[in-house]
Amino acid sequence: KKGTLIIGAGHAGVQTAASLREAGYDEPVVLIGKENELPYHKPPLSKTFIKDAQAGPQLLRGENFYASNHIDFRPGLHVTRIDLASRRLEFAQAAPLAFDRLVLATGSRPRRLSVEGADLAGVVSLREIEDARLIRLKSDASADVVVLGGGFIGLEIAATLQAAGRNVTVIEAADRLLGRVVAQPIGEHVRQRFADLGVRILTGMTVSRLEGENGYVTAAITSAGERLPAQLVIVGVGVVPNVELAEQAGIAVANGVRVDGQMRSRVAEIFAVGDVASYRHWLTGQDVRLESVQNATDQARLAAQIIAGGSETYKAVPWFWSDIGDMKLQMVGLNTGADNHLVVGERQENSFSAYHFAGERLVAIESVNRPADHMLGRKMMAAGLFPDRNLVLQGNNAMKGLLA
Ligand code: FAD
Repeated sequence: KKGTLIIGAGHAGVQTAASLREAGYDEPVVLIGKENELPYHKPPLSKTFIKDAQAGPQLLRGENFYASNHIDFRPGLHVTRIDLASRRLEFAQAAPLAFDRLVLATGSRPRRLSVEGADLAGVVSLREIEDARLIRLKSDASADVVVLGGGFIGLEIAATLQAAGRNVTVIEAADRLLGRVVAQPIGEHVRQRFADLGVRILTGMTVSRLEGENGYVTAAITSAGERLPAQLVIVGVGVVPNVELAEQAGIAVANGVRVDGQMRSRVAEIFAVGDVASYRHWLTGQDVRLESVQNATDQARLAAQIIAGGSETYKAVPWFWSDIGDMKLQMVGLNTGADNHLVVGERQENSFSAYHFAGERLVAIESVNRPADHMLGRKMMAAGLFPDRNLVLQGNNAMKGLLA
């Protein structure tokens, strides 16, 4: 038996391997990751890890987990090609491996900046633990930091470095922060909070080039012509899915490897899960590619069940969190298609939730420091309950009544 090969040992790949064993799958499972590390949690990298000089990786599973579950974990191996005809994987450094089932859990990588100076030392993006180590090291010696991109990762790092005494400027091309993922009330609130902290936020602006000396970055020049001194430039302008292996094998790709409601690509034995997978979402009927731990682990669980002989379809409720300074942001549902919203709680107290509706139907809740709203939202949506405005206005106790 050749079993299942999993490419990528991040959140999705590791969960797939674990869930295969939990589902009683007893054929070989090989987990291939290109980093030379035990698989670790990514979210802390932009939060606690860069704050604390002593922090090490938070492992996804204990060191012994792989061997004791008969998961053949192969770190430091880079898959270079999928040979579809012979159902084999090729590697840069090793002999090919054959598979019965293949799971693509290759994740995504930071989008590169295409301006002059983007290759200077001190211009970094954050995806892997090596990047976080570099940021931690460089930020110690940097008084001025420029963050390109006002998305979650950029803002988390901006808040952390400002709190550590750096002079931080954030440059965002769109006219508001977090525009790709949350609606205006949250973006506005985050912006106000940053202004209070003394982080400079430039929206509707880009960098036209980066300046350096002896190969090290020294300044960012904005599209308005301003020169911002910077010894460290963080590039947080989004990610692109790692679809090249699939593409080259002729597996359908459209903003990610296309999968059906069971995480199957157009080739029945090949699955895709996590940041690399794009699919029609059961909640909105729209094509999405989500970048969250929830999406990675829930899709992995489902793919594993299907491989082990199950027949369910994907029905997990999407949710996400981000810690930006003293704001714990939590999102549940998807706000695409929302046309009206309601705010509950107090913006001034840094504690409120925005409930988004498409017509009368609740589609998403975005919370700042209101974890109870978030958890209740997750429970309701998982139970297929989408309250209307009146019920939301009656408060959490009234909504809990729905669940009873
Ligand atoms: P990844 O975790 O990226 O794993 C993919 C793996 O595949 C990588 O290890 C890569 O090296 C490997 N790989 C790729 N190509 C090959 C190849 N050819 N051969 C071998 N190996 C290969 N999500 C949240 O929900 N909340 C958060 O607060 C949050 N914070 C984040 C903070 C940071 C700094 C980052 C980077 C991400 C954060 N995310 C957060 C997003 C979340 O981490 C991702 O959605 C999640 O990691 C996706 O899991 P994945 O397994 O699909 O991809």
